[in-house]
Amino acid sequence: MHHAPGFREPGAFAICESLGTAFTEAAPRFGILLPVSPNVRTLRFTAGLALLLLVGIAAGWATQNKLQTTSSRQFPAPSTPAPSSVPSPTSPPPAPGQMTAPRMGLNVVVLDPAHGGTDLGARGTQGIRESEVVLQFSDQVKRALEAQGFQVALTREGNDNPSFDDRSARANAQRGAVFITLHISSIGLPGTARTYVMPEFPPASDISGLIPWDRAQAPFTGLSHKLGDLVQAELAKRFRASPATAEFAPVRQLRTTAAPAIAVEISSVSVENRAELDRMIPGVADAIAQGVAAFRPSYVLPALPGAPGQGGQP
Ligand SMILES: [Zn+2]
Repeated sequence: MHHAPGFREPGAFAICESLGTAFTEAAPRFGILLPVSPNVRTLRFTAGLALLLLVGIAAGWATQNKLQTTSSRQFPAPSTPAPSSVPSPTSPPPAPGQMTAPRMGLNVVVLDPAHGGTDLGARGTQGIRESEVVLQFSDQVKRALEAQGFQVALTREGNDNPSFDDRSARANAQRGAVFITLHISSIGLPGTARTYVMPEFPPASDISGLIPWDRAQAPFTGLSHKLGDLVQAELAKRFRASPATAEFAPVRQLRTTAAPAIAVEISSVSVENRAELDRMIPGVADAIAQGVAAFRPSYVLPALPGAPGQGGQP
């Protein structure tokens, strides 16, 4: 057990001290403002950008393929891969010349092995360190997600300890990301798993329509809750006595993340034998991958204003 200041008493949450330290940090270190308020404006802005991109690509394609432009109203993909900073995770890849639209939804899963460096996280009586175990879990979760066709970015791959903001920035810097932070608790029934999402909180935008970095999660709490429930449902199938749905908790790491974001916590570092935790790894990896895959259709940008019968995702 790791009794650090801010440690929660066992009760409502089996939650590590880092998970529970929301709202205690002072003003955000970054002065960055995110254009995420109101959220509809941002989503429309994003959809607008995407449409402009589509129009641009289509125009370029049409110029090179004049004879084909009247054959279909559907947007055709270029016959050669378009240059892009974010690789498309479509699986399997389309055959050359196959008609397909670029994916505008969920592209990247940012996976966050919590703690690291001098922050060992929760520690068990058998010398089990949360900061090390989450790396093992993350490695398997990454593979399971990649098998589902997702691109995966890890916030750390070794024993370093990026700041909360640096970890969030991995998701905030790109479109189409979800964020999953992984923890091993010091309490809770061994062999169970829980998913936490931020409770709703107001974005508190200023007159510029921007919201501060430390409220970045505000527009995404609804999508985060949906993602959390889907992942937790998969965890509950594999780990009996786990809750059926996601729970609300003011998780510091989620607060600064401008994307659907969840915390998954495995119980616990207090197992008698490390092998008990290791046995959970495949099930946790599979549950997260299946949950994110089930969430993928929900992660749809709304259509532009005035375009009938499209989108509508809150
Ligand atoms: Zn933790």
